[in-house]
Amino acid sequence: MHIPQTGLSKQEILAALQAFKGKDMDWKAGKVFCYTYDPGEDPAEVTREAYLQFLSENGLDPTVFPSLFKLETDVVRMVINLLRGDANAVGNLTSGGTESIMLAVKTARDMARFTKPHIKEPEMIVSKTAHAAFHKAAHYLSVKPVVVDIDPQTFQVRAEDMENAITESTILLVASAPSYSQGVIDPIREIGAVAQKHNLLFHVDACVGGIHLSFMRDLGYDVPDFDFSVPGVTSISTDLHKYGYAAKGCSAIMYRSKEIRRFQIFACSDTTGYTLINPTMLSSKSGGPFAGAWAVLNFLGQEGYKRNIKTVQDATQKIIAGIQAVPELRILGKPAMSLLSFASDSINVYQLADEMAKRGWFIQGQFSTPQTPRNLHLSISFGNAGNADVLLTDLRECVELVKAKPPIDSDAIRQMVGYALQGPDPEAAFGQLAASAGLSGSDLPTEMAFINEVLDILPDEVCNMFLINYFNDLYV
Ligand SMILES: *Cc1c(COP(=O)(O)O)cnc(C)c1O
Repeated sequence: MHIPQTGLSKQEILAALQAFKGKDMDWKAGKVFCYTYDPGEDPAEVTREAYLQFLSENGLDPTVFPSLFKLETDVVRMVINLLRGDANAVGNLTSGGTESIMLAVKTARDMARFTKPHIKEPEMIVSKTAHAAFHKAAHYLSVKPVVVDIDPQTFQVRAEDMENAITESTILLVASAPSYSQGVIDPIREIGAVAQKHNLLFHVDACVGGIHLSFMRDLGYDVPDFDFSVPGVTSISTDLHKYGYAAKGCSAIMYRSKEIRRFQIFACSDTTGYTLINPTMLSSKSGGPFAGAWAVLNFLGQEGYKRNIKTVQDATQKIIAGIQAVPELRILGKPAMSLLSFASDSINVYQLADEMAKRGWFIQGQFSTPQTPRNLHLSISFGNAGNADVLLTDLRECVELVKAKPPIDSDAIRQMVGYALQGPDPEAAFGQLAASAGLSGSDLPTEMAFINEVLDILPDEVCNMFLINYFNDLYV
């Protein structure tokens, strides 16, 4: 493919783009239970127009675009106030949860270099349910992740287990409110006390929950304190582009004070170029995501969010009750808001996800750990909450379909994986396994059960290598 010699018309281009979407999952119909957060037509339109108004403005330089500075500081202050930070609390907007988390880890690392220079190999303590973005941050920033297991019944990390993992080299504790995978809130108050006792920074990952949980509390739901009101919490990440219902590309990273945030900011004047000063990772960045977030917060207002949340929580309760009523399925832990996962002791849940996919539903498969079973995840939000009843009907029917199907032979796969791992050329063997699972070439896979089975059985490092190779082959 080359850049066309002669440009296409606007009509041709827009028609082509629309056609590309033809094979995408139908999120607008509310059949995708992750990735998209649809606030409904009116707020979505306001967000879109606001985004387009700032498409070409550049967040690189607030002196040239004071409008973007205004949008960013307004949004951050609104979120800080929601999370009960005081006037000392500060923050910035980033491109998403991952960037917010990477910045929280970088800030902790660089602050430790300054305040605890004896630490040569910094460590951060994360629970098994922490989002993979922390492992990515650890990998990029050369901080060692120390993973603490969770209570396999509640899916919460225990504060004492975190405390026991602290060493001379610990720079940061991490907990979730809630975890994405099971939607469970860690014991934030207890971990905050541990952080204070050991003079450690403590990041609360409220990427997915910060906004939704805060309004739930206002509505009278039982929500444990997870925000700046908890002593010991030093930073929080909250995504606007999830349950803030903003357009993608917007998250907030917030700190208890400027003394901490200082270590986030990077400046460089040692080149022949312009003086660079970046509070976050990106340098040039569109104003669109900031404007979109500003618009949707102001359009929905607290009342709008609360209305949406009531709808979402009603649907969530219905879905939880419906799943619990299916003898083959069980909910994992106690979901705190509208994210949940379920497992089965009798059927293969990956086959269940495939059956649901044939009916247009997208439900994420999640892997097992030595302590916890493989499971399926649902994020219920305003855009899919209306489908609770149809979802449950299809889920019940699909459980019956899976029961009637030949099961996937896990033992045979386990044996195959074992041989491959012991053989002279594991990479080649896995290449073959991948091909037989439909994971090769440039066609994206459709049936996921067999692939998930293989991936779930593989040891973590091998699985990661396998996935990296797959993507390396898949893309140009
Ligand atoms: C989504 C999510 C992240 C990562 O955020 P991205 O916006 O996808 O980069 C981190 N933590 C939690 C709890 C999340 O739900």
